[in-house]
Amino acid sequence: MDTINDSLVKIEPLQPGWYNSQVAALDMLRLDLVHPIVSGNKWYKLRLNIKYAQDHNFRTIVTFGGGYSNHLIATAYAANKAGLGSVGVVRGKYDKLTPTLITCQQEGMQLIFVTKEDYNRKEDKEWINELAYHFDEIFIIPEGGANEPGRKGAGLINRFIKEAYTHIAVSVGSGTTLAGLRNSLPANQHLMGFVPMKQGTYLNSYIATHLSPGKEGNWQLFDDWHFGGFGKWNTELITFMNDFSATNKIPLDIIYTSKMMYGLRELIANGHFAPTDKILAIHTGGLQGNDGVGGLNFNQ
Ligand SMILES: *Cc1c(COP(=O)(O)O)cnc(C)c1O
Repeated sequence: MDTINDSLVKIEPLQPGWYNSQVAALDMLRLDLVHPIVSGNKWYKLRLNIKYAQDHNFRTIVTFGGGYSNHLIATAYAANKAGLGSVGVVRGKYDKLTPTLITCQQEGMQLIFVTKEDYNRKEDKEWINELAYHFDEIFIIPEGGANEPGRKGAGLINRFIKEAYTHIAVSVGSGTTLAGLRNSLPANQHLMGFVPMKQGTYLNSYIATHLSPGKEGNWQLFDDWHFGGFGKWNTELITFMNDFSATNKIPLDIIYTSKMMYGLRELIANGHFAPTDKILAIHTGGLQGNDGVGGLNFNQ
C-alpha cells in the first residue's frame, strides 16, 4: 500500500505563545499527514488486521461504524488498496448518504444499514455471518479496530516518539490506540487519554484488561472536555479550533483532537505540568469528519 506512507509523518512544535511557555515543549505528532482518507491512528489500527486477512486468504473485510466514522472510511480505502472487498455495517438509517458514506461506497464498500438496536449485536458472530452471508470469506474487524492486531498496530506509533517526552497525549474513542501505546511505550512516559464523550471513564476497564505485564500503570483518562457528549460541540470549541489552526498552522478535527487540545491547554494553564515537562500531543487525524458537519465555516 504505497500510497499510505509513514515517512510523511512529522513532529511539529506548537507556538510557545499558544501555551504561554508554561512547559518546556509542546509538540504535535502529525499522524494526520499519513493519508487524507486513512488518516491518523486508523491506519495503524488497520495495518496488521489487513495483513492478517491477506495472509489467511480472507477476501472481504466486514466492519462497523456510524455515518461519519473515521474507522469505516479508512477501512474502505485500506481494504480496496489491499485488493480486498469490504462491507460496512452502518448504525442507523440515513435519508441521504453522508460525505463519509459516499466515499466509502466509492472505495467499493458495500453498506448495510441496521437499526441502532440491531447494531448493538455487533459482537454477535452468528448475526454478522447472517448479515454478510453472500460475501466471500469474511474477516470481521470490530468497531474502532478494537482487537489484538488493532492494539498491536497502534503500538507501532511508538516509532515516532522519542524518550525525551515526559507526557504523551492522545484522544480516546474505543481505547484501542491508548492501550496499544501503553504497551509499546517505555513505562516511565506518562500517557494521557482525552475522552470526547460523556462519562467516558467506563473505558478504564477495557484499557486495563488489555495492558501487558509491567505496563499496567502510568496512564490516565480525562473526561472533563466532552462539550456535551460525543459528536457535540459549541461555538467556543469552534472558535478554539480555528484559533489553534490559525496560530499553529495545523488543522484539528472537531470531534476528537479539538477537545483534546482544549483540555491540554487548560491543564497547562492550571499548573498540571512542571515547567521542565515535554509534551507530545498525537494528532490522530479525522479531518474528513469536518466535511460532514457542513454549514460551519472551518478555517483550515
Ligand atoms: C478513532 C479516533 C480516535 C480514537 O481512537 P481509539 O483507538 O478508538 O481510542 C481518536 N482520534 C481520532 C481523530 C479518531 O478518528
